[in-house]
Amino acid sequence: MVTELYQRIQEGLEEKQQEITEFLQTAPETEKEVCLCNEENKVEEHLHIIETSLEKIEEGTLGVCVVCHGYVDAQLLEMDYTAAVCLDHYSDEERRRLESELELSQVVQRALLPQHMPTIRGVEVAAFSRPSEIIGGDYFDFFQFRDGTHGLVIADVSGHGVAAGMLMSSLQTAIRTMAPDTDSPAEILERINRFYIHNIHFTTFVTVFLARFDPATLMLTYVNAGHNPPALRCRESSTIHWLKPTAPAIGLAEDFHARMETIGFSQGDSLLLYTDGVTEVYNLSNEEFGQERLAELVHQHADRTTPDLLQAVLRAVSTFGGDRPLVDDVTMVALKISG
Ligand SMILES: [Zn+2]
Repeated sequence: MVTELYQRIQEGLEEKQQEITEFLQTAPETEKEVCLCNEENKVEEHLHIIETSLEKIEEGTLGVCVVCHGYVDAQLLEMDYTAAVCLDHYSDEERRRLESELELSQVVQRALLPQHMPTIRGVEVAAFSRPSEIIGGDYFDFFQFRDGTHGLVIADVSGHGVAAGMLMSSLQTAIRTMAPDTDSPAEILERINRFYIHNIHFTTFVTVFLARFDPATLMLTYVNAGHNPPALRCRESSTIHWLKPTAPAIGLAEDFHARMETIGFSQGDSLLLYTDGVTEVYNLSNEEFGQERLAELVHQHADRTTPDLLQAVLRAVSTFGGDRPLVDDVTMVALKISG
């Protein structure tokens, strides 16, 4: 049984190593810039840990406790392949934290939750999601933080099909499990990165935009972990502000710090969140739809209702792509301060 576990860890790590290496070598510079948020060295650090762990498996030293030289618990190793101290040597505080991580891992593996549309006072909300295959790698959700403020998330797994879909539902469960205990988007994403980075089943990465919106103050506090920058359109100045990445994508960087930013909304302002299936559509001349065209559409349609805005973007993207079938999932969420 132990051998089986080590074999699974080895396969998981080799797959992860290959995917990250491939991403670093082949992803277009613009995509790397967004996903890595200038933290390429931390991704290399992560690769180095994977490499060292694979060597340890070869030598038979992975999971050997540095204190007593026995083997660390299988459950612990399953969750974090770098675990090098058995439970016996943990302090009460450390053990409590670990238990909550283990609990989270069990909750995450269990549940599949339905999507909800929220009612937020003074805010018009619309959303749209169309997977390119039966199960998509895109995801959006609404939830509540401990202080009752509204949570909003949009995410994109770097893959498609059943595996990506399952990862999305586990992400949704993780966020919904953690949100009632915190008011901090950064804390949620830091915990999720810590939980996923050493999880052997997690063989790819996820871009996530996670925000907290307070309808009383109209303030939005967010972390953008390598996700396409949402477009905030200010009605008064008629300008668009891109909410650029403040952290690398989840699952890529070993040492992950999620920087939070806060922005204020005014009456009539709109926010459009989207996945790369919207901007990375190509026309017959192989031109990309891109952010500029999206910005233009937001300007043109921001004063209409949010469902109208989403419809207009969808129509434009589809026409631009020559009405060919979608190659990627398309997901959008629009918010508008309606008073
Ligand atoms: Zn020990």
